[in-house]
Amino acid sequence: MKDSNFLKEMNARSVWHPMAHPADSQKNPPTIVTGAQGVRITDVDGHEVVDGVGGLWNVNLGFSCQPVKDAIAAQLDRLPYYSIFRGTTNDCVIELAEELRDFFAPDGLSRAFYTSGGSDSVETALRLARQYHKVKGEPARIKYLSLKKGYHGTHTGGASVNGNANFRTQYEPLLPGCYHIPAPYTYRNPFNETDPEKLAQLCLQALEDEIAFQGAGTIAAMIMEPVLGAGGVIPPHESFMPAVREICSKHGILLIADEVITAFGRTGSWTGSRHWGVQPDLMCTAKAITNGYFPFGAVMISDAVAEVFEQDETGLAAIGHGYTYSGHPVGAAAALACLAETKRLNVKDNAAERGAELFAGLQALQADFDVIGDVRGGHGLMCALELVSDRATKAPIDKARVNKVQEVAYQSGAMVRVSGPNIILSPPLVLASEDVQVILSSLRAGFESL
Ligand code: PMP
Repeated sequence: MKDSNFLKEMNARSVWHPMAHPADSQKNPPTIVTGAQGVRITDVDGHEVVDGVGGLWNVNLGFSCQPVKDAIAAQLDRLPYYSIFRGTTNDCVIELAEELRDFFAPDGLSRAFYTSGGSDSVETALRLARQYHKVKGEPARIKYLSLKKGYHGTHTGGASVNGNANFRTQYEPLLPGCYHIPAPYTYRNPFNETDPEKLAQLCLQALEDEIAFQGAGTIAAMIMEPVLGAGGVIPPHESFMPAVREICSKHGILLIADEVITAFGRTGSWTGSRHWGVQPDLMCTAKAITNGYFPFGAVMISDAVAEVFEQDETGLAAIGHGYTYSGHPVGAAAALACLAETKRLNVKDNAAERGAELFAGLQALQADFDVIGDVRGGHGLMCALELVSDRATKAPIDKARVNKVQEVAYQSGAMVRVSGPNIILSPPLVLASEDVQVILSSLRAGFESL
């Protein structure tokens, strides 16, 4: 391995990082991660910490999941690649589709369209939604609704339904016909409503108003995360997603659940939609489907939507969409092994239990540090702390102070993630109670350093 300073210099000279200013790597060299075992990562200087980020919300089974590694190695030996475009397929994607159908059966989803990641899954779902209405004879349904603060990846369709200016402004003009509804974000919202249930009602009314304004017959789909993730871990009131489902059904609008983060146990249920008792029409998955070991994703499609496509006799349902790596056999083999381990270890229950410990620990931190304005979570292993400079006025905090908390937490034993004013936690779902305590004590050290 090359010397740490040499690597940092080379990195600054030749690597551009996603979601960072290109000049940043010179000023603030990123941590160079060189190894990982269990729920811990090691950097180039030999420093080992608990990964409070779980890779990027995706390494649910930790870094040492041997069955997934073995499946990848075996598949690379047997068939490293072949496409599943019309005319060919492979045994792995067939077996995986059957497994996924059984896994997602309670969500009413039975067909899989494979992708190579979350943004691809979102793009696929958005396109299939428009095509569904065309096949059904309602070609005017082309618009999309989504939530402010929602995150749906970085393709142009996904960026157009994203509800955060940081991911949009530089790339405008985006797709026309995308409209954003206020998110049920209790800490800050345009209604100044602090009661989550009442706020859910106000957001639902805004959704109804937007549908009436646009004309229901012009809208293809509503896309939402069951718990908003990258926007700062915003769980809605339990009444929210079921009511969105009802409104969409009433108006013939498809509901796309973006479960790129929430599927496979993160919320303490197998899917975020199931967590709220909702059956979406389309579901975007990626990330934990292969535990992060291989880029892969799947859009799951409900029976009712699938039947419209499958019964078409006009040819309109022919899918003019797909990726070279749709149904990659190595990804599918990884996903099969991953699904088996996910179920065998029943990681959703550990996510619920460790998540409750983490959430309670974060609330205890809030009692001790005024800079913590809001603590969000309580649904599995996804939590956030929103930092403020003044708790009474909720005035924004200087970014350098948020970074300081992260740096000191890292030196003290845990990797946590900074996103705007938020510190976000999404550790592997196989985390132990002792690891939760390491994350909490590291964060405490971070806050004490301010
Ligand atoms: N949707 C959601 C809800 C996500 O959180 C993400 C990524 N964090 C994406 C889509 C995009 O996934 P990817 O980065 O794999 O393209």
